[in-house]
Amino acid sequence: MNIIDGKLIAEQIKTEIATEVRKMIDNDINPPHLAAILVGEDGASQTYVASKEKSCKEVGFTSSIYRYPASTSEADLLKAVDFLNEDEEVDGFIVQLPLPKHISVDKIIERINPKKDVDGFHPINAGRMLAGLPSYLPATPFGIMQLIERCNIETEGKNCVVLGRSNIVGTPISILMSRNSKHANATVTICHSKTQNLKEITQKADILIAAIGKPNFVTSDMVKEGAVIIDVGIHRTPSADTKSGFKLCGDVDFLNVSKKASYITPVPGGVGLMTIVALLQNTLKAAKKEIYQ
Ligand code: NAP
Repeated sequence: MNIIDGKLIAEQIKTEIATEVRKMIDNDINPPHLAAILVGEDGASQTYVASKEKSCKEVGFTSSIYRYPASTSEADLLKAVDFLNEDEEVDGFIVQLPLPKHISVDKIIERINPKKDVDGFHPINAGRMLAGLPSYLPATPFGIMQLIERCNIETEGKNCVVLGRSNIVGTPISILMSRNSKHANATVTICHSKTQNLKEITQKADILIAAIGKPNFVTSDMVKEGAVIIDVGIHRTPSADTKSGFKLCGDVDFLNVSKKASYITPVPGGVGLMTIVALLQNTLKAAKKEIYQ
């Protein structure tokens, strides 16, 4: 069994990005600028945004965070989006999710200029991805595709089962895995909460991508011998073994499933780190105007 080292691959890609940024600076071009809008005090969101800021520093990007209280109105948040859409110094920005319940996520995302939508959530970017046109790919699926590519995992003609159909993970990764391209060309089945006989389906998977949001949901009896397992889930579970009193786990029962897998991503140290790197790659593309002029 091979553990897919998301940390190592993320570091390699960050080094590649940093080299490009240095070249830009040497040529008197401003380094890419990633901004983030953070609404409220959600602990996980604060952590994500802080690690995005840290990663920006590591590769030489400019980063800025716009913080708003949880009581911010939808109208004011739309104004904040408009401000960043207009700011010529910002190449790309994200609005950290989740948002408070009184704000429509769809309205906010649709207001982002697709050219700056480095999360790849805007319907224009989603549509362009669907049509196979250049677009910002959503960060987590983009990160997964790169793990697969850099580990030289064979995908062509393989049965790929995706657990989960969210707009940010399950649906886009199922599209990317089925595309007619070198590191895809898989035969994809997408499962959700209404799927029947789930175990029978997952047992046939050569590649199983779990994005279900349930800790340790995928058990070893659901997995075929030699399968590739990509675990997208991230959960904090109580633990007496750690100082903090909790540990992270994924959607997959790593201990037992890893005994059957040919490749498996750990949590932490797998997909999560690649998500941030993919966001940096999208921002670099935005700064270089690779997708849109
Ligand atoms: P989500 O929006 O909650 O979607 C979960 C999906 O799983 C839904 O499509 C749901 O089906 C399906 N599902 C739930 N229970 C099921 C069951 N018993 N059988 C089959 N399907 C079931 O979650 P998400 O945003 O995609 O995130 C999934 C996980 O990935 C979460 O743990 C999240 O924290 C993590 N995540 C990690 C990263 C990262 O960077 N590593 C990034 C994003 C998300 P229905 O559609 O029928 O409800």
